[in-house]
Formats: sequence, structure tokens, C-alpha cells
Amino acid sequence: MTPDQLIRPEIQRLSAYHVADATGMVKLDAMENPYLLPDDLRAELAVKLGEAAINRYPDPHAAAVQNALRQAFSIDPGYAVMLGNGSDELIQIVASALAKPGATLLSVEPSFVMYRMIAEFTGLRYVGVPLRPDFSLDEAAMLDAIEREQPELVFLAYPNNPTGNVFERAAIERILAAAPGLVVIDEAYHAFAGGLSFIADLARFDNLVLLRTVSKLGLAGLRLGYMVGKPGWIKEFDKIRLPYNINVLTQVAAKFALDHVAVLEHQAGLLVEERARLMSALSALHGVQAFPSDANFILFRLPDAAKVFTGLKRRGILIKNLHGGHPLLDNCLRVTVGAPLENDAFLAALRNELELDN
Ligand SMILES: *Cc1c(COP(=O)(O)O)cnc(C)c1O
Repeated sequence: MTPDQLIRPEIQRLSAYHVADATGMVKLDAMENPYLLPDDLRAELAVKLGEAAINRYPDPHAAAVQNALRQAFSIDPGYAVMLGNGSDELIQIVASALAKPGATLLSVEPSFVMYRMIAEFTGLRYVGVPLRPDFSLDEAAMLDAIEREQPELVFLAYPNNPTGNVFERAAIERILAAAPGLVVIDEAYHAFAGGLSFIADLARFDNLVLLRTVSKLGLAGLRLGYMVGKPGWIKEFDKIRLPYNINVLTQVAAKFALDHVAVLEHQAGLLVEERARLMSALSALHGVQAFPSDANFILFRLPDAAKVFTGLKRRGILIKNLHGGHPLLDNCLRVTVGAPLENDAFLAALRNELELDN
């Protein structure tokens, strides 16, 4: 018996999620927050991690982390919270729970690639509805697709990755009203979106749940995502969550960091300021079209993305090349907003690459 006889064909056709080697590079490819916690807080955290009972299994519900999240983000006590090993795990849990034979997951394209990959993992049929060329939501096409496909599950990232924009609220409300199944709004970039959120809409829509993560807020290394929704949904999803999915060290570190959430939010504020600076610098470059962003990254188009991407890499700057990922992303690159010196290094390298072109 060989793998190709036994492994599901759709899995054999997949390629594993690719993570670029960033050793020694200015790393602006993965929407990480460039800042660590301040030294005094790190010293305090080190003591707490040293005292952590790593000989014991973790609290299966990570109650202290849940409470810290509720406090930090003012989550209404009427809603249930479920934690995941990154929000990626929560996407997988929701998909597994809804994957009846023949069931459909619908999203927009281009969007977060894990929606499609996880549909494949879990045996869901995937339908992607193209955005408009300016990356706005094509509401008519979405409503048509919902009517035609009757999806069990709709995923919308708000703001969207890799485009950075938020979709029109009224259009999302009409999608929520029309969808026959569950709609998951993924607010991974909430910290940078100036308060835009669907969290208050949980009260109005019984078919809505919300995903968030602390990854983009400065804690990517902890792997902690959370889902907020009506208890009826969360109770079912919690049955397929593996018992100890949030490890002891993550629980200690996340509780500590969330108790100091003002520090993380201050860092996010600095990144929002840098985003504005990066945006005007990019827009001023001849031949570069930068797309408006409510996230901690900027998507931009230029005449030869592959060449510039390689040139930047040679100069020690790692960003993300999206060319070839989707026709709407032709010649597009995505840069994460970093610390001021990192952004300066990126801009200097980009200017040099573009001059070589002229
Ligand atoms: C980064 C990202 C995630 C994944 O977050 P993790 O919590 O690190 O797994 C989820 N959704 C979107 C849209 C993202 O960009």
C-alpha cells in the first residue's frame, strides 16, 4: 500500500502552505507586529512563564484567557467565546462541523487562502465569487451565488486579506439576510480598522459568528484565535475542538499580555500612523498603484511585480508576491507595515528597484 493509493486525491493535489525563509531579512511578509513587549513587562512575563505548571495539562477551557479577552475587548456576557490554536484552527472547526456530504463553503476572491484550503481538507465544496477590480464586494454576484449555491457556510474577511479594504457594511448586511447558512465574519485585522466591526450585529443576525485573533496585534507566536457568537453555535463547535488546544505557556502569556492590552493597542496605533506614511510614499512613486488599507499591510501594483519582488529580496527585504495567485492580483505585491526604520528600508530598496527599471 502506497500513499497515492490511500490519501484522498484532493489532498494529493494540494501543496502545503508555503512559508518563505526570512533568516536575516527585514520581514514584512506576514502581517506581524514588529514590536515586542517593553523590557519591564517581558521580565515580569519571564517569571510567570518560569512558574507555569508545564507538567500538567492546561485548563481545557482556558478560562483565565477567556476572561481576559472579554475584559480587553468588552465582549458582551450574553455571547459565548471559544478559543483556537490560531483562528486558522477555528476556521477548520467550523468547516468540519458544517461539512455534511455535498455542503458548500462560499467566499470571495481574492481573500484569505485558508478558506479554500480548509474547504478542501474538510471535504466542503468551495465556491469563490470574484471581487470587482477595485476589490470592492460585487454584491449582485454574491447574492446570485448565494441563491444558486445555497451555501452552508460563507466566509468574509473584514478587512479583507490580501486586499486590505473593508467591504461595504450595507452589502454585508444584505448578504447576512440572504444567506441560508452560517456567515463567519473574520476580523483578524480589527485592531487597525478604526473600530469597524460586526460584533454588535451578533444581536441582530442569528446566522452570524465572529472570528478574531491576537496574531496581528503583536502575539503571532502564541497562536491564539477566538470566536464570538451565540451560545447555541459555540456549544456545537466546542464539541470538535480538541481538549487541550491552548497550551499552558500560551495561556500564561496571553493572559499577561491581554491584562496589558493598552500596550498592544498603542503599538497598533503606531502602525496605523506608519500605514498612512507608507501609503503616501507608495502613492507618490511613479508607476505604483497602492490600494487603500484598513489593515496592517498595503497591497500595491506595479509594472513588473515578480522582478521587483526578487530585487527587494536580494536587498534583504522580504514582502509577499501575490502575482499569479488570482487574475485580479496581477502584478501585485503586499507589504506589511513595520517599524519606521523597516518601512524606510523597504521604501529605499523599492525606489532603487524602480529606478533600475527606468
Ligand atoms: C492572518 C489571518 C488569519 C489567521 O490568524 P491566526 O490566528 O494567526 O491563525 C485569519 N484570517 C485572516 C483573514 C488572516 O489574515
